[in-house]
Amino acid sequence: MVKKAPLGARSPVSDMKGVGPKKAEALGRLGITDVRSLLSHFPRSYEDMRSARPISSLKDGDKALVKARVLLTSLGRGFGAKRTLRVLTEDDSGRMEVLFFKAGFMMKSFRAGEEYCFFGKVKNENGRVTMFHPSWAEASDAETAGIVPVYPLVSGVTQKDLRKLMREALEVPGACPEELPESVLASEKLCGREYAVRNIHFPGDEDRFSEARYRLIFEELFDLRTALLLSKDRFGAGRKGRSIISGGAERFIESLPFSLTGAQSRSVKEVTSDMASDRAMNRLVQGDVGSGKTAVAEAALMQAVDAGLQGAFMAPTEILAGQHYESLKRDLGPLGARVVLLTGSMKASERNAALRAIADGSADVAVGTHALISEGVSFRDLGLVITDEQHRFGVNQRKKLSEKGAEPDVLVMTATPIPRTLAVVLYGDLDVSVIDELPPGRKSIITRKYGESGRKDAYRLLLSEVEAGRQAYIVAPFIEDPESLDGRSAEQLYAEFRKAHPGISCALLHGAMKQSDKDAVMESFSSGEVSVLISTVVIEVGINVPNASVMLIENTERFGLAQLHQLRGRVGRGSDQAYCLLVLGGDSEIAEERADTLCSTSDGFVIAEKDLEMRGPGEFFGYRQHGLPQLRLADPVRHVKLVERAGRAAERLLSEDPELGRPENAALRSRLDELFVNIDSITI
Ligand code: ADP
Ligand code: MG
Repeated sequence: MVKKAPLGARSPVSDMKGVGPKKAEALGRLGITDVRSLLSHFPRSYEDMRSARPISSLKDGDKALVKARVLLTSLGRGFGAKRTLRVLTEDDSGRMEVLFFKAGFMMKSFRAGEEYCFFGKVKNENGRVTMFHPSWAEASDAETAGIVPVYPLVSGVTQKDLRKLMREALEVPGACPEELPESVLASEKLCGREYAVRNIHFPGDEDRFSEARYRLIFEELFDLRTALLLSKDRFGAGRKGRSIISGGAERFIESLPFSLTGAQSRSVKEVTSDMASDRAMNRLVQGDVGSGKTAVAEAALMQAVDAGLQGAFMAPTEILAGQHYESLKRDLGPLGARVVLLTGSMKASERNAALRAIADGSADVAVGTHALISEGVSFRDLGLVITDEQHRFGVNQRKKLSEKGAEPDVLVMTATPIPRTLAVVLYGDLDVSVIDELPPGRKSIITRKYGESGRKDAYRLLLSEVEAGRQAYIVAPFIEDPESLDGRSAEQLYAEFRKAHPGISCALLHGAMKQSDKDAVMESFSSGEVSVLISTVVIEVGINVPNASVMLIENTERFGLAQLHQLRGRVGRGSDQAYCLLVLGGDSEIAEERADTLCSTSDGFVIAEKDLEMRGPGEFFGYRQHGLPQLRLADPVRHVKLVERAGRAAERLLSEDPELGRPENAALRSRLDELFVNIDSITI
């Protein structure tokens, strides 16, 4: 027999006792690959095995832990494994029968005379006590003593497996190396990592558990803040910039046919004073859909242009870039700014002309997609960089764009309201302007939900709006009819609609279409030639067609709350009453709750908080998509105080050692590099 090498923190779980290829694969699905990741699989809850109750005290319906001796076992009628196993047990206070269904194979699990622990739901019929299918263990088993962890599972892994593996892993030398710097441990009075990990899995008592939990939550929030600060520092918060002063923003504001809202004016002031300062601007503008972020961006661009500098405006999709190009040309052109568009799908000749204009300075503002950050693009003198819908861009991409200039000012715009509670964690040091006021005269959007039976009513309303000369969106969760899913596809809806309403001009739009086709469809919808646009969520971001007054969303249950709010923001951009019609395809409680939230409020921040509450912080915005690790114990909403404490500790540490290059911080640095994979790719 080959003797295995001693285990270490990086040993694969398959090196552990009792873990074959199948179990290793199942553990992998829990994100457990080695000893270290095993120990980071924290319990979801605990069972307090110290509080076994006497059988005589059990009432009907109780869920309880009982420690009892087995008297005898018997099998019910039937065949083999399908038979019911009856175990008669007794403690000092009385008797209890324990039933396991389809458990013939367990016959040999219980030995008469031995003590076992049973945890489960109790039935008490006139003193006859029965427990059904409890979780159980031998009382002598070490794991039934004290407070026992309950882990998240997948099939192929049992609680017993995990408890056993955890115990083994905790004995592996160096399995829980300390990664927080001494200075942080001391100033925050935190317990050591090894102690914390041991007590989060097998708490010695309540106090040790609290200490352990506090330290681990702190650590998660501290890691997160430190990584975010690191990524921003590299991006250049606090870096020296140039002072950009001109009358451009003023000129632009005076040229507008409307006056800015209070929130817009405030944001423009914040932006222009950042630009005037000799520190580089690093500001986020947060504003709900329709709040008028574009005007703020345009004011900033004009401020740069009048100072003799160029501006770049990057949007995540071609459609959006095209739309911004049109508005910038319309709004800034008359003020003398020359605007060019640069996208990946442009003809070579157009592209070359745009590149030349950007390079020789004959273009003042370049609007485009990722194409703006490609190799061949060089600016004469780029002073201001704006990215729209920033959650689609990584820090890295923004950095690339700003590297095209000499310390340009950076403005990031987002229509996704971040709950204030999360903003503290995510942005901390970043300067934020909030546009929390809609332009005047905008009618609120009437939002209604419909079940399958009300679908006709929803369409009736849509048709009457179309007859009155307005336009409508119909959004479906997917393009084609994938057989495995129930729900309506854009293609199916399109075919149905055309057949049912031959007199109405409608068009289909989805992400798998060629760019030129998409553009053509959008163009015909914008121009009013097409009345009904049937699409997937490609229209989610930024599209602006003021004559569209209806947004009908099919299979609402398949969309997230924030996404639905975004979609709704596509209508109500003109002076007509607008409608958002939510057609639910099933009767999911969560979907109903989401729909009710939308019906009751239009405040993006309220919706974001609700979304956060419903989905939990771990899932919010799909953390992984943003390059952030999953939070296991920390909840930024519930642990606000700790968020602040951890944030301050992170700032203190980085002010002393900005790149974490000192030897005493090396462990933390490498932990962060591993945890975040690529700190530069964080997209928040
Ligand atoms: P978003 O914040 O979603 O990008 P936009 O900038 O596209 O919003 O603005 C939405 C619409 O509101 C545009 O048609 C714009 O011209 C108009 N708008 C913006 N600010 C004002 C204002 N202060 N008064 C009236 N209309 C405004
Ligand atoms: Mg916008």
